[in-house]
Amino acid sequence: MRTDLYQGHDYYNMDDLLSEEHKLIRETARAWVKQEVSPIIEKAFEDGKFPRHLLKGIGEIGGFGPYIPVEYGGAGLDQISYGLIMQELERCDSGLRSTSSVQSSLVMYPIWKYGNEEQRMKYLPKLATGEMIGCFGLTEPDHGSNPGGMTTNFKDMGDHYLLNGAKMWISNAPFADIAVVWAKDESGRIHGLVVERGMEGFSTPTMGGKWSLRASDTGELIFEDVKVPKENLLPNKSGLGAPLGCLDSARYGIAWGAIGAALDCYDVALRYSKERIQFDRPIAGFQLQQKKLAEMITEITKAQLLTFRLGQLRNEGKATSAQISMAKRNNVDMAINIAREARQILGGMGIINEYPIMRHMMNLESVITYEGTHDVHLLITGLDITGENAFK
Ligand SMILES: Cc1cc2nc3c(=O)[nH]c(=O)nc-3n(C[C@H](O)[C@H](O)[C@H](O)COP(=O)(O)OP(=O)(O)OC[C@H]3O[C@@H](n4cnc5c(N)ncnc54)[C@H](O)[C@@H]3O)c2cc1C
Repeated sequence: MRTDLYQGHDYYNMDDLLSEEHKLIRETARAWVKQEVSPIIEKAFEDGKFPRHLLKGIGEIGGFGPYIPVEYGGAGLDQISYGLIMQELERCDSGLRSTSSVQSSLVMYPIWKYGNEEQRMKYLPKLATGEMIGCFGLTEPDHGSNPGGMTTNFKDMGDHYLLNGAKMWISNAPFADIAVVWAKDESGRIHGLVVERGMEGFSTPTMGGKWSLRASDTGELIFEDVKVPKENLLPNKSGLGAPLGCLDSARYGIAWGAIGAALDCYDVALRYSKERIQFDRPIAGFQLQQKKLAEMITEITKAQLLTFRLGQLRNEGKATSAQISMAKRNNVDMAINIAREARQILGGMGIINEYPIMRHMMNLESVITYEGTHDVHLLITGLDITGENAFK
């Protein structure tokens, strides 16, 4: 097992912009990851299973609902703190960050923002500690990039709703206690419903065969005449804007997380290049390898600046969905390119699980697709700057 020697990299003194609390939150997350996750992550990835014993620890470092108010069990932190936690988790593994960001931004966020007080008190405190786990059902077999076309639906039966349909590619589904499910009412309007494990007609089969995000469990959500109590409908927002609001929050977290994965690849490649001797000198001394490393830290630094500014805008409630799309798209693309370059710096050792690079590279193939594909985020920027919709 490789010792986790990771050190952060801060070429533009970004730390000067952080508060002491921010740094403490980051160090706490980093120390927990090094002690509890790094020693087991390669095995979890190989086994294709999320290590569920970590849930409590993620809750303890504030990884579930960092920005949810304290009265609902959250940590009441700002958006930069949320980003720093996502960065540290994904520095270890995108699947670890996925589990945390699904719970925070796709389950706790809609219950907090769109739910009523009773729903908040019922679910949020348990979700914050990891005692309860949630998942988010938006994507369907025939509706991925176009979620508005969804066919999952519910009918008003007087004293309950009757839910039918199917979701796929749902992170955390196989072991989630609850699912925030997006479905159409009889008039075709989209609403969020909290579906609980154990409701008759609700099942969550695991999806296998993934070569990416293997340390995160993915499944389907099947609804066959599921009777959902009326009090489980999230009353305060409906329409496609409701799930998209959750995605804004999650995509913001991914923008930070991707920097973490990139930093880990750079960190490993930099250290390796100084130690690996070929032609009687460290390979770090060859111009071709320096070009790779210099470009990596340049791209990481640009992403850090972009994302920190986005965090400030989020703290002020001013970040637009299009700004978030730009950061998600840029940073994941940056990270996947760095993973590929880092893999080359390690030569053959780059493909071995003694190093995390190949795992990051495979994980990022999911991250570049989920929560809006690389193409879709480009179209969002295109629409924003031209006013022309190129989606259809
Ligand atoms: C590991 C993993 C975990 C996931 N977790 C969740 C989850 O927890 N909850 C959830 O709801 N979903 C989840 N997803 C689903 C994810 O959000 C979708 O895969 C994603 O939105 C893309 O949908 P799709 O796979 O159906 O691709 P498609 O929409 O079929 O896209 C295929 C290709 O067509 C392109 N394309 C589509 N429309 C256009 C267009 N208008 N113009 C140009 N090109 C276009 C896309 O960019 C892409 O390259 C997860 C996915 C993965 C892989």
